Parts: sequence; C-alpha cells; structure tokens
Amino acid sequence: MVDARRRIPRTDAVLADPRLVAATARLGRGTVKAAVVSAQQRARAGEIDPQAVVETVAAALPPRATSLRPVINATGVLLHTNLGRAPLSEAARQALLVAAGCTDVEFDLETGQRGRRGRGALAALRAAVPLAQDVLVVNNCAAALVLAATALAQGREVVVSRGELIEIGDGFRLPELLASTGARLREVGTTNRTTSADYAAAIGPDTGFVLKVHPSNFRITGFAAGVPTAALTGLGVPLVVDTGSGLLAPHTVLPDEPDVARTLAAGADLVVCSGDKLLGGPQAGLLLGRGDLVGRLRRHPLARALRVDKLTLAALEATLGGPPPPVAGFLAADVDELRARASALAAALAPEIDATTIDSPAVVGGGGAPGVVLPSAAVRLPEEYAEPLRRGDPAVVGRVVDGALVLDLRAVAPEEDAVVLAAVREVIDRCT
Ligand SMILES: *Cc1c(COP(=O)(O)O)cnc(C)c1O
Repeated sequence: MVDARRRIPRTDAVLADPRLVAATARLGRGTVKAAVVSAQQRARAGEIDPQAVVETVAAALPPRATSLRPVINATGVLLHTNLGRAPLSEAARQALLVAAGCTDVEFDLETGQRGRRGRGALAALRAAVPLAQDVLVVNNCAAALVLAATALAQGREVVVSRGELIEIGDGFRLPELLASTGARLREVGTTNRTTSADYAAAIGPDTGFVLKVHPSNFRITGFAAGVPTAALTGLGVPLVVDTGSGLLAPHTVLPDEPDVARTLAAGADLVVCSGDKLLGGPQAGLLLGRGDLVGRLRRHPLARALRVDKLTLAALEATLGGPPPPVAGFLAADVDELRARASALAAALAPEIDATTIDSPAVVGGGGAPGVVLPSAAVRLPEEYAEPLRRGDPAVVGRVVDGALVLDLRAVAPEEDAVVLAAVREVIDRCT
C-alpha cells in the first residue's frame, strides 16, 4: 500500500502528459486538475493502478467545455422546444463563428464611426418581407409581445379574444405575460366564439391595441368562430398579430399556418413571431410592420433590455439570406424518400437486431400547425435501445411507442443517417 502510494504520479507530471495538455486547452485547467486529483485519490485508495491515472483522467473528462450535447432529433417533432427548436443551417453556423470574435456589429468600417446595430440582419429581414415598413429584432417572441404591450398599452387595455388566451408551454401563459407589463387585458367573446361586434364593442379611449394570437398548439373544432385579421382593421386602434411560427410567406405544406406577409397584407399594423420555429433560425422575436409603431418600440427604454446579441444577429442574417435552413428541408421532405432512407437503415441493422421500417406520423410541434400530420417514415427498434442511444454522444432521441423505439426521420437531416447507424451499431457492440 505504501509502495503504491509512492508510485502515484505527481499532479504536475500528470498534467504535462500530452493527452491532458490537449484537454487543458479544450476544457480549462480547473476541470482537468479536479479530474487528476480525483484519479489520484482513487489510486491512493487502491481502486485503480497508479500507472492508470492519466488514462483514468482522460476517460473521465467531458469531450467539450459545454455540458450541452449534440442531439439527433428522431422524435418526429420538427420543432422540439426541449431539443433547442430549429437546428441552424451550415451558413448560420459559419456566421456564428465569424461573429464570435470582435466584429462590426455596431461599427461602420467605412467611416470609422458608430454604425446601426445589426443593420445586415435588419436589412435581410426587410428584404424578406417587403410589405413591412420597418422591422425590429428582440430576444424571442415573448419579449416582442412584452415590448409591444409596454410601449403601446401600459396602463391601458389590450383587447383580445377569450379563445386566444393561450399557454405556450412550460407555464408561459400569454395573459400573465401581458398583465406583467401593466397593460390591462380586455377579454372579448367566449372560448369558442368571438365576433367582430365583440371587438368593436370593447374599443374605447382606453384601448392600447387589439391583439390577435395564433393558437399555435391546439385547435378548437365544432361550434367555433374567430375573426380573421382583415376584419379587425379599421377599428381606429393598432392591430397587433402574434403569428407565432415565423413563416414569412405562405408554405404549400402548411396552407393554414399564418405567415407574416399575408398578415400584413390583411391589414395588421404590427406582426410578431419567433425566429427559431418555422423560420429555422436562432431564438429571436421578430417585429414587423408600420414604421411609426416599430419606431416607438425601438425608442422605448425596454428595447435595450430585450436586444439580441451579435451571435443571434449573425445567425439570423445567414438564415434569411443564405441557403434554406434544415427546417425547410424537413417540411418539404418527400415521404417516399423518407421511407427509402428508413429501409436502408433497417436493412443495414436487420442482420444483427430486430429493425423494421414503419410509417410514422410527424408533427411541426409546439411551434405551429396544430393538428397537421406530416407523413413520415421511421426505423423501429427494440425498446431497450432507447436509453443507451439517448445517453450516447451524439444522443439519438426517438419516441417509445407500443413497447418499441421509433426513430422518425422527418427531422433528421439525410447526412445524419450515417451517424444514427453508427450510434445504433455502437450500442449493439457494447451490449453483445
Ligand atoms: C411560440 C409562440 C410564442 C412564444 O415564442 P418564443 O419565441 O418562444 O418566445 C408566442 N406566441 C405564439 C403564438 C407562439 O406560437
């Protein structure tokens, strides 16, 4: 025992091992040193061979300085809030790297003077929605609503249908959010039916604006009626519409999903939406519409507290102006191609495990298009694979249905199929 203790390598010597020098550059000295101390203690306790300290440290260290792990989204939910919603395009990822250093986000390199913050992203947004007189970008759609309610209706009323007082998820309730700004909610209509007359009767000197919210995660069917955007114009107060999903223009796969261009064309004064849902970009809240209203929001002191960082601006510009983001590909995917990919995966695995191809219903997710099923295809594996695949790196997250693991390919990029295959193979190798 005394001998073993003497043979325990010194911290400096362990840290100087080339493998740990590389790890220190990746993870920082504190993390590596803590792992070294822990391995030395284990050697002292006789749990590991003193010769094995470096290997033990190397094996215990995380692969990167963030504890966030890459995930392959095989859930069939295209925009999964728990999985970070929209994956960014390659162009947006490159833009993040450029913006990560010092960058001219608020500086004009031609004149050497201060420049308008994020002008490239704002210009790209304006170009994408020519009907918008002006645009503004904040932290997320909730922040956009808070800014609109604060700047346009603090101490006054927001007129909104009872059928649109929604909870988005994780306790985010629109009525509470609006009330937190000091605006008063003036609820009109009933849960299932609201008419133009209901709105008109509620408008008065205290009205800040009329708010229309897209019920993005549920549907009311049966004896139900709402008032379309076009019928809410001309009431003498601003009409603010929360479209949620962030489609800028109509999409053929989701004809009923509201988009910014049609909503402005229908007469909305201000449209707010998310950047990381169907737009396929970074988390952001987009505000588009009348120049005077957007200007008031931009000049409000709260705007400074809700502004986005250079990384968001970079990724947003690349999403708007660059090649279509992954979400566009997921929406447009042809079900026969998805089936062919699922068959190829199942065929590659079938000699070793019970892997079959099935049709699978995919959905857009909390980000939009409630009730719309996107036909998809999946590989069906024994349920025991769910946990080890989820714990892998990258993690592969599917759905457990009827005692089986279903890996839906709608939200898996075609180039990720090989990664899924390798991940399943690794589990097979480990377990057999
Ligand atoms: C998702 C959603 C929001 C919240 O958007 P965030 O960008 O997550 O803040 C607000 N309104 C609607 C209609 C939504 O669908």
